[in-house]
Amino acid sequence: MILFFDVCVKTLFELGRNYPWPRPERCSCCKGRIWAHGFDTAYFDDFPEPLWIRKYRCVDCRTVFRTRPSGYWSRFQAAIATIREHIAHRLTERRWKPDLPRSRQRHWLNGLRKQILTHFGTGASDDPLQAFDSLIARGVCAAS
Ligand SMILES: [Zn+2]
Repeated sequence: MILFFDVCVKTLFELGRNYPWPRPERCSCCKGRIWAHGFDTAYFDDFPEPLWIRKYRCVDCRTVFRTRPSGYWSRFQAAIATIREHIAHRLTERRWKPDLPRSRQRHWLNGLRKQILTHFGTGASDDPLQAFDSLIARGVCAAS
């Protein structure tokens, strides 16, 4: 299970394991007690090394909780805002932005098209960016 927190990724980079991650009061599964459970690492764009990400564990039901900065989807190194910006650029300028590999940007746009098809059906892709925002509002990863 993943817990999203408002975390400044730059501060996380600077403080490493000393970052003061907020600890949830109770387990969202069983309302049990949450204890710290070590760290994971995760890569984020603009940082050459993986960053330390706090893990928690419920001592009662043993669920492990991974944390993630809000503004990032699970398994994505780029921020959601970055992904949206690059898709928007492609749709309006009909060119990929030069700052990131085209393959990544293409992957995001193809992911968005799949999600639009899955959630809105065919013929609903008139405004992919609006669909992107609608998918986010539904809690869907719009680019996978
Ligand atoms: Zn629990």
